[in-house]
Amino acid sequence: MLTLALSKGRIFEETLPLLAAAGITVSEDPEKSRKLILSTSQADVRVVLVRATDVPTYVENGGADVGVAGLDVLIEHGGAGLYQPLDLQIAKCRMSVATRDDFDYASAVKQGSRIRVATKYTAIARQHFADKGVHVDLIKLYGSMELAPLTGLADAIVDLVSTGSTLKANHLVEVERILDVSSRLVVNQAALKLQREPIRRLIDAFAQAVAARQS
Ligand code: ADP
Ligand code: MG
Repeated sequence: MLTLALSKGRIFEETLPLLAAAGITVSEDPEKSRKLILSTSQADVRVVLVRATDVPTYVENGGADVGVAGLDVLIEHGGAGLYQPLDLQIAKCRMSVATRDDFDYASAVKQGSRIRVATKYTAIARQHFADKGVHVDLIKLYGSMELAPLTGLADAIVDLVSTGSTLKANHLVEVERILDVSSRLVVNQAALKLQREPIRRLIDAFAQAVAARQS
């Protein structure tokens, strides 16, 4: 049995066409079912639904053999124990610094002020500001980062941006791009040896589908 860990929402939706290219159809729509384990058109392949941030943990520890995780999650979690054979080019966005539109970020940086930064991504943010030599106080949040500068909790946020419409709706502006993000296929190291053939087939089918889409 090959177990694939996916998160509900955009990663699940955007992985479906890749699975189809590998001849795999998922039996149920996770938005309409409460099941956490979904069977597929291939009796020896199943999908488990986990939180996006839990995908590396499942795959690293053998709760799943393969998974799909954002580069943001992989860097923040530290995907060291995972084989990462393929950039799937899905769930594309970027990690950026944003502030209120009336906050002068460039001056604050230039003056060497301490900047209060709210984020779910404390490891990525810490590294980014250390590289720039900017002093920050990091505030760990688990969601709705946009609210932090609006309430005075922070001067800036580090968050994922795609269209920028959420920032705009909250009078925030993107002041710095940190990292381009897309989702990666991740594989458990032991599974790679024990289930070499099915995993190889999945990687090859995904790789072909990704390449076909790029051209
Ligand atoms: P959650 O809210 O549980 O973190 P999301 O579906 O919002 O789940 O995010 C899952 C992954 O999708 C993130 O880790 C990131 O890689 C990617 N992602 C997040 N936001 C966006 C976005 N606006 N556009 C494209 N990809 C995104
Ligand atoms: Mg989200």
